[in-house]
Amino acid sequence: MMNRRYSELPTSETDTDIAIVGGGLSGTLAACLLGRAGYRVTLIDRHRVFPQEFRVERIGGEAIEKLQRLQLFAPLSTAAVPFDEIVNMHKGHVVDRTYGQHYGFFYNRLVMAMRSALPETVNFVVGQVRALRIGAARQRISILGQDEITARLLVIATGMGDTLRRDLGILHRQISDRRPLALGFSIRPRRSNRFRHTALTYHGDGDGIDHLNLFPVPGTTRANLFLFRDPRDPWVKSLHDDPKGMLTAALPSLVDTFGDFEISSRVDSWLTDITAADNCRQDGVVLIGDAYLTSCPASGLGVSRLLTDVERLCCTYIPQWMTETAIDHTKIAAYYDDPEKLDMDISSVQMADHHFNLTAKTDVGWHLRRQFHFTRRHILYGIENISPALATKLHQLKAKAIRAKPALRSAALNSEPMA
Ligand SMILES: Cc1cc2nc3c(=O)[nH]c(=O)nc-3n(C[C@H](O)[C@H](O)[C@H](O)COP(=O)(O)OP(=O)(O)OC[C@H]3O[C@@H](n4cnc5c(N)ncnc54)[C@H](O)[C@@H]3O)c2cc1C
Repeated sequence: MMNRRYSELPTSETDTDIAIVGGGLSGTLAACLLGRAGYRVTLIDRHRVFPQEFRVERIGGEAIEKLQRLQLFAPLSTAAVPFDEIVNMHKGHVVDRTYGQHYGFFYNRLVMAMRSALPETVNFVVGQVRALRIGAARQRISILGQDEITARLLVIATGMGDTLRRDLGILHRQISDRRPLALGFSIRPRRSNRFRHTALTYHGDGDGIDHLNLFPVPGTTRANLFLFRDPRDPWVKSLHDDPKGMLTAALPSLVDTFGDFEISSRVDSWLTDITAADNCRQDGVVLIGDAYLTSCPASGLGVSRLLTDVERLCCTYIPQWMTETAIDHTKIAAYYDDPEKLDMDISSVQMADHHFNLTAKTDVGWHLRRQFHFTRRHILYGIENISPALATKLHQLKAKAIRAKPALRSAALNSEPMA
């Protein structure tokens, strides 16, 4: 990164092929891919060093495969702790174990590691974008205290913040009335040197607790708790006052199984609105990541979804658009209508509802479904221990049934331990 051009002082008007506003995970990954492909890219973010904010702290499965496929995996491995076994609990018992590569990290360090992988040709501008003027041929980006940047294409990757999009008439519409609440904090062992397991996921039982993830990150162990409870609920207030006491009361045998702990950091919390951008099919501008659609944090799909946005946009659509003289809204629409992107977007929204139902519905139907879900997993886990070959066959049959019935896909994705 030594030769990277960091601009903080007023610049003269700069022309570039692609301007990306927002250097969080999605904007930075897009800048990496486009810079490598040889485009003139300017990445603009208000923070030179990404601040410590509570966002995704653990990924696995599909997200890792995508990072590997895009050759963006190396920075993750420098900023994260790998782990490959998760103990899954429900109602005081171990249900099964998940095996597979996962990584735990602090979001700000992951973004910084990704930024350090930016090609030297990417111009990183530190500044607050204040206004945008767009058109099919040229985009104009005004940055506070700096001269305007012009670009052929504007990529908005500003996360959940709304101001810039609003200037373009792009509004965020609430697409689910579920509002997941997430709490994040660090823990350390009490009365011993280490925990009994590297990672543990504890699923709630119709009590509004979706799940609690405990997993390693560099230097500590993190707890991520996902809930569907009204933030004004007295139980939630008590949870903020005494997270350990409330969790150990709600999740029996947690301490016995994982080991006693104490909280060693501040407790961050986020209430997420599940929203999608409306009126975004406009000339010369495209939205990615949370700027387009906010995913339910409990579903663990935010990173997979933003990687789909980045991959489809940077590997398929931008190479086509860059050969044209104008990028009008009909060309832009092809990206939003991309079948792979649509499939991912729809799954992630359906998943918010499914998580809510599995977590918070107390009627007999959902109660039975929950019991069936965890019993089935527990039985399969028993079979795995006795006959791995039979268990593989059962997994294959289930995968075949899911492929045959797309409607089952989102429910099935939900039924696995979250990444
Ligand atoms: C509490 C929580 C837990 C989550 N847990 C998970 C999980 O377990 N698994 C999962 O997959 N996903 C999870 N997610 C979702 C995931 O974190 C997000 O999908 C992802 O971080 C979005 O990245 P982004 O780049 O789109 O936005 P961000 O990372 O928010 O980046 C936006 C960037 O835009 C910049 N910016 C904004 N406005 C301007 C401006 N005007 N000028 C210049 N710069 C600007 C900001 O500084 C920031 O750097 C979670 C989210 C939350 C909130």
